[in-house]
Amino acid sequence: MIRKGLEKKLIDIKVHDLRDYTKNKWKKVDDIPYGGGAGMVLTPQPLYDAIKTIKKKNPGPVIYLSPKGQILTHNRIQTFSKKIINKYQGIILVCGRYEGIDQRIIDLCIDQEISIGKYVLTGGELPAMVLIDCISRFIPELLGDQNSHIEETFSKKLKGKKEYPHYTKPKSFKGLEVPEVLLSGHHKKINQWREEHLS
Ligand code: SAM
Repeated sequence: MIRKGLEKKLIDIKVHDLRDYTKNKWKKVDDIPYGGGAGMVLTPQPLYDAIKTIKKKNPGPVIYLSPKGQILTHNRIQTFSKKIINKYQGIILVCGRYEGIDQRIIDLCIDQEISIGKYVLTGGELPAMVLIDCISRFIPELLGDQNSHIEETFSKKLKGKKEYPHYTKPKSFKGLEVPEVLLSGHHKKINQWREEHLS
């Protein structure tokens, strides 16, 4: 879906290498933390220059993917997608590495910190891809069936609940049968069954 979205120019993703914004001849982007401790921290200068440069072309909000951020939820994504599609036309995602980024970048440049869950990954790239994927699903025309994101687990239409079970062909598989009602063609009864099977 994302590849198709890119091909159809419904989405545009640009990856920026922090090393291109360094001012030292070694293209070094990290350093040891003040106060000591394990790991390295991404230094402020390359990040600051990268964000300022990218912002000139894309003035949208700057999001730092961080385990300390607000947890990504269906509602947050939906609000976010509407804003991006109707207002901002784009966002800048900052991916951390090592111990993370210098606090002054958060203070100066970051509009929002987003976490994809209460666990720690080695870098912000996967969280950024998760964010891109779920935001993209709300772009009209991206999903083949435009209604598929409307009736989905956590959606308003399903009252924030988990979706009913799905079945496809064959009718019988390893001794397990498709519920009779789904084969009936009786839409009222099918809807009732689905409603009863939300969890
Ligand atoms: N020292 C940080 C802490 O304790 O909060 C963890 C840094 S983590 C090893 C490196 C980078 O991965 C972070 O800067 C962030 O960009 C990304 N990251 C890790 N877990 C994440 C999560 N759950 N959600 C979003 N980003 C995450």
